[in-house]
Amino acid sequence: MTLKPIYKKIKTVYIYEIICKYTSERYIGSTTNIIKRKNSHKKMSAKTASVSIINRSNWTLNIIEKFNTKFKLVQLLKEQWYLDNFPNINMKRALTINMMKIKEKRKSDKRYYTNNKDDIEIKKTIYRKTIYKDRKNLLDKQWRNKNKETINLKNKNNIYICECGSEIRRDSKSKHNRSQKHINYTSSKTAS
Ligand SMILES: [Zn+2]
Repeated sequence: MTLKPIYKKIKTVYIYEIICKYTSERYIGSTTNIIKRKNSHKKMSAKTASVSIINRSNWTLNIIEKFNTKFKLVQLLKEQWYLDNFPNINMKRALTINMMKIKEKRKSDKRYYTNNKDDIEIKKTIYRKTIYKDRKNLLDKQWRNKNKETINLKNKNNIYICECGSEIRRDSKSKHNRSQKHINYTSSKTAS
């Protein structure tokens, strides 16, 4: 997907939700023209997830956040943040990892950074909090799946059965030795 990362001028962006008043289902979107968008939702194709809410004809559109930016990317990052953190019926991500690979032409220009500092910092923060985290979780999961047997074996070898009958991990032995169950066992043994 190609994405023009920068609007020609600063735009006011609206992150909005469409809530079904019957089921409380939520659809999340973003736009630079809220009135036009609200009307267009009323005649969207069946492919859009919001259609099921609109068709029930008892819904409300709320603005969740309003901000100014020159970056389309900031808009999508914010939208994706809401998608990741609130229940919703959306079927598509606002942002994919490929879209983050867009290079900014004047990235190294100091004056450019100073003029757009706020937007750039927001972008970095949201990137760290959403995209980076998503990606890391995915990679961690892939790694765990790939190494499942090794991990299981390692955990198995790491477990032993204490004389008190508890199944414990070797690295938590000293903690276990201070546990009530273990103390009760040792004291009963000493007493007999
Ligand atoms: Zn024990």
